[in-house]
Amino acid sequence: MAERLDFSDPMQRPRYAGVATFFRLPLLEDFETDPPEIGVIGVPYDGGVTNRPGARHGPRAVRDASTLIRRINQATGASPFEAARVADLGDVLIERPFSLEEAHGYVEAHYRRVVGAGIRPLTCGGDHSLALPVLRAVCAERPAALLQIDAHADTGDDYLGSRFHHGAPFKIAVDEGLIDPARSVQIGIRGTLFEPGMWAFSERAGMTLMPIEAVEERGWRSVMDEALAVVGDGPVYVSVDIDSLDPAFAPGTGTPEAGGLTMRELQGMIRRMRGLEIVGADMVEVSPPFDVGGITALNGATAMFELLCVMAGR
Ligand code: MN
Ligand code: MN
Repeated sequence: MAERLDFSDPMQRPRYAGVATFFRLPLLEDFETDPPEIGVIGVPYDGGVTNRPGARHGPRAVRDASTLIRRINQATGASPFEAARVADLGDVLIERPFSLEEAHGYVEAHYRRVVGAGIRPLTCGGDHSLALPVLRAVCAERPAALLQIDAHADTGDDYLGSRFHHGAPFKIAVDEGLIDPARSVQIGIRGTLFEPGMWAFSERAGMTLMPIEAVEERGWRSVMDEALAVVGDGPVYVSVDIDSLDPAFAPGTGTPEAGGLTMRELQGMIRRMRGLEIVGADMVEVSPPFDVGGITALNGATAMFELLCVMAGR
């Protein structure tokens, strides 16, 4: 009789069966007892969106889509679940979701426990506003470079009476000294503006803003080489907004912008981050109610796998 599979290991089960965790990893909600090196965390929260909602449903849809993903990255040979101990730490449970700033407080407190246990977080949003409380925990001791791939720079300011919406987390992160603007890059920026200076803070602060036209004219490899030169050595936080992709590849998102990256370009860009000292990363803004056939959730899960491959390799 053939050797039997160990079904107590979720990775050995048929990929379509069982309760979905990120990448069929073990679920470890009590992560402080025996902390893994990397924790994949869902933040089902979209109280910071300025337009179409739904990103609170992102973690569940991305967990489901991620069960399609196998162990090894065919292109790079990376095998992240062998290179590092990785677990699904579950979702951040927010007791008071109707107050944006209180909700951010819950996220920050949760991530302070994660970081305190020595775990590097890979977050699945949720809307992009949650990058701020995550950075408040991850970069509490020392600032990091920001390597952001997004259609929007998210360095806005007050909108409809709040500064904490998903179009402004990185302005506050610079103001609070969490990220070093001189080492920070924003790639794929495009779309229409309310006013010419909508992202002027980025340039004023000394961040490097690379519009989608740079990717079109110079190619993603050259753009990434320049980005990596700006980031240099030292800690870096990687933030991937799924709306960086063209709506053809990511229809399920709150603020889509035409003329974006292809999924293959995004994969290549993340693979080029190998060797960086990544202290944390996120993939945000998947909004399943606007998705079509699960395209966005699959591409979000795939982007997270590529991030894991470069996080675990170090
Ligand atoms: Mn965006
Ligand atoms: Mn964003």
